[in-house]
Amino acid sequence: KQFGLNELREMFLAFFETKGHLRLPSFSLIPQNDPSLLLINSGMAPMKPFFTGEQEPPRHRVCTCQKCIRTGDIENIGKTARHGTYFEMLGNFSFGDYFKKDAIHWAWEFLTSPEWVGLDPNRLYPSVFAGNDTTPADDEAFRIWNEEIGIPAERIFKFGKEDNFWEHGSGPCGPCSEIYYDRGEQWGCGKPGCTVGCDCDRYIEVWNVVFSQFDNDGEGHYTELKQKNIDTGMGLERLACVCQDVASLFDVDTVMNITNKVSEITHAHYGESHKTDVSLRVITDHIRSATFMICDGVLPSNEGRGYVLRRLLRRAARHGKLLGVNDPFLYEVCDTVIHENEGHYPELRERQEYITKVIRTEEENFARTIDGGMKIFSDLLSGHKAKGETVFSGADAFKLYDTYGFPIDLTIEMVAEQGMTVDQKAFQQLMQEQKERARKAREALGDLGWAGVEFGKDVPETEFVGYENTSITGARVV
Ligand code: ATP
Ligand code: MG
Ligand code: MG
Ligand code: MG
Repeated sequence: KQFGLNELREMFLAFFETKGHLRLPSFSLIPQNDPSLLLINSGMAPMKPFFTGEQEPPRHRVCTCQKCIRTGDIENIGKTARHGTYFEMLGNFSFGDYFKKDAIHWAWEFLTSPEWVGLDPNRLYPSVFAGNDTTPADDEAFRIWNEEIGIPAERIFKFGKEDNFWEHGSGPCGPCSEIYYDRGEQWGCGKPGCTVGCDCDRYIEVWNVVFSQFDNDGEGHYTELKQKNIDTGMGLERLACVCQDVASLFDVDTVMNITNKVSEITHAHYGESHKTDVSLRVITDHIRSATFMICDGVLPSNEGRGYVLRRLLRRAARHGKLLGVNDPFLYEVCDTVIHENEGHYPELRERQEYITKVIRTEEENFARTIDGGMKIFSDLLSGHKAKGETVFSGADAFKLYDTYGFPIDLTIEMVAEQGMTVDQKAFQQLMQEQKERARKAREALGDLGWAGVEFGKDVPETEFVGYENTSITGARVV
């Protein structure tokens, strides 16, 4: 049976409610009281205070569907089947309550039971932590998968720290079990030895079940925690992708509706060429991220979260240009993003006008300089090529940034399309010098009432919390 993305989200939350979990709404994409993180990137991130004991959780079993942004995956967008900069993460959490046995049994039950998702168990493969010098192998998880769930030993994969150990500096950490789904040979890379753990899109990681059972003192000494926790994360779009048996996250029902809208506006046909598909997917992905970020109070700027948003919108606009669209159009797509998601996130509709306006203004600002920038870019590029150079200078990249508002990764991408690289070190040096000049100019203004104004920053705007309704305290009342 095929399930829609919205249906799967509801099934997951309902399933864990039957296991005694309290369903909380997604927290804001803007981390609260957590300067270590620019944007929420996992279901666990906003729950840190519950794990550390800093705050008492509203219940010891909680489940959420959390909005996430991962800019680290930006290069993968449209190229792999499984990455988005925006995605939703389903998660069940235990704060010193149930542990490994229940977490594994429930994950398996949800995925394979005909009453729930009903995936073919023969296509699923768990992995466990293999152990290393400082930390023992997770024999307990292996035994549960093997003896209790009944998965033959040769179908359970053992991986090292990078994949199967969750750790963030010092503090609570532990091994994890990940569940992979075999989407079938046609999605594989075809290389000999392609199996679970291969980076291609055949065996995709669906669910990460983390057992936080150790405390790391920061010097690599691990002691067992008295209060053991469970933290899990499953990409909702990935789950939908395997359930719907479609090519990628972008072919999942609600996401495809957005791509269709982009196709309609750009007259570019999905599935016609790889290049076009990448552009369509980049636009679809980035507009999803932008819509949710703005809804949560991020505004385009030259710093921090605001700059992440600006980069996403400008990159999407440039891919629109590649498809031949010269006028602002992203703000129109945003309406479809809202339409597809408002059932679960009604605040999107409430803020529709505002979100649309922010996107349109940013598009118009960029549109004013992009043509000039593209022209200058080709001139600069020809200059380098004429001299037989393969490195695009930092000074030229800085000129595009400073005069035409081209974020550096946009320039890097355009340069890479020409088989060249950017001198990023020189670029950063020029950025630094500019900051220094701005600081001096500020100081020179002395007491003119400008003290405290940071040029190029708009921290108050970025931190805008006028719409905040998902703080921990807010969620508690639910
Ligand atoms: P991958 O190895 O495929 O990049 P990951 O190991 O980085 O995934 P985790 O950090 O373990 O992912 O996150 C938990 C789950 O969230 C993953 O198992 C996956 O289902 C989902 N997920 C992670 N990154 C993305 C992404 N960029 N887009 C969509 N879903 C994602
Ligand atoms: Mg990853
Ligand atoms: Mg992984
Ligand atoms: Mg993982």
